[in-house]
Amino acid sequence: VSERRILVQKYGGSSVATVEKLKAVAALVVAKKREGFDVVVVVSAMGDTTDELLEKAKAISKEPDRRELDMLLSAGERISMSLLAMAIREAGFEAVSLTGSQSGIITTASHASARIIEVRPFRVEDELELGRIVIVAGYQGVSYRRDVTTLGRGGSDTTAVALAAALDADACEIYSDVDGVYTADPRVVPDAKKLGALGYEEMQELATHGARVLNAQAVQFAKEKGIAIYARRTGSADPGTVIRRDVPKASSGVRGIAHETKVGTLDAAGVGAAAVACWLEAMEKLGVQPKQIAHTESGAFTAVFSLDDVHAEDSVRRTASDLFGAGAYRDDRGCISLIGDGIMRTAQVALSAIGALRKEGIEISAMSTSSFRVTLTLRAADVLKSVAVLHRAFALGTEFSAEAIL
Ligand code: ADP
Ligand code: ASP
Ligand code: MG
Repeated sequence: VSERRILVQKYGGSSVATVEKLKAVAALVVAKKREGFDVVVVVSAMGDTTDELLEKAKAISKEPDRRELDMLLSAGERISMSLLAMAIREAGFEAVSLTGSQSGIITTASHASARIIEVRPFRVEDELELGRIVIVAGYQGVSYRRDVTTLGRGGSDTTAVALAAALDADACEIYSDVDGVYTADPRVVPDAKKLGALGYEEMQELATHGARVLNAQAVQFAKEKGIAIYARRTGSADPGTVIRRDVPKASSGVRGIAHETKVGTLDAAGVGAAAVACWLEAMEKLGVQPKQIAHTESGAFTAVFSLDDVHAEDSVRRTASDLFGAGAYRDDRGCISLIGDGIMRTAQVALSAIGALRKEGIEISAMSTSSFRVTLTLRAADVLKSVAVLHRAFALGTEFSAEAIL
């Protein structure tokens, strides 16, 4: 049995946005190597590179071929991985950069929203054995058809957790531009509070419903493999937020609030199961992954999905109107999700949320719940204000909120 301690770190786009920032990351990585860790660093594309590449693709084709899109988007991470390896070499340490494919990240063939099936990190292990710092391009893998795939927006987090699991790492640290996971997006709610620790399920719900500080698939992986994730700010001494098992429950029932402004929604009447199946099949082909669907006895059918990874919105719109009639699909809605383990044990949270929004004259167009979540659908334009209203209504910014008991 070796004495090796493996550390997996992931640095997000804002942390590697410029050459200067890459050099700063190189210094942080080297410091860990000096401490005696075998270091694997997963990087995102520099700054807004992914958005810029997407824009170029869409200037050429409204619905770009998804295989070609993945060839293009995966290039962003190649730029940062090679530059970081060079910066580490300049600092006097041996480093090698590897693509997702070279790192053994095997995925489904669902381009632009691929899922990791398996990690075979033999090359990574060999390089670590040689004493090198290994830099891995996040967000990408290779399908069993040997095509390059990408994992969906924010997918570098998933690369990091999957590698940490496959390498049996001591820790998995995800570095971004915030000190950790907050009760709400701190850009939207300035007095949001940082959570010291959070359970997998609550984090997964937050991430799935819009808290992009961590990627939902990454949290799912961490839960399955029992890996603790440390969410921290690059270069900060703050301990950040740890995502792990057995975290005490929030006192108010609401741990945090997630929101999304870019969603597609479906709401149709008189729908049969065959039409639902048809729609699901079409969405699967288009790479759209609905996060909520409901079909009731009276024939009502509703669905909500994020538009982040949808690169064929016209087809989504057309499919909906063919199957369910014009007007069933809309893209002017947003969602707010109140998250907390056991949140629906009483009706109090749902009642308070409805009350607080109505008092502000904000119209709620739909609602759905689970044991972890109360989700409200409203006009996209009302979302940001509503997040602030609900954050205040549940006193998540005060000392007596979730954080106080941790
Ligand atoms: P990176 O590029 O490093 O992956 P992201 O932009 O994907 O970083 O994620 C960090 C951002 O997530 C923050 O700047 C913040 O605005 C946003 N965010 C949304 N919800 C939350 C939350 N609950 N806690 C912290 N940050 C959040
Ligand atoms: N570069 C990709 C994105 O912008 C992946 C990531 O940052 O995690 O979504
Ligand atoms: Mg991210």
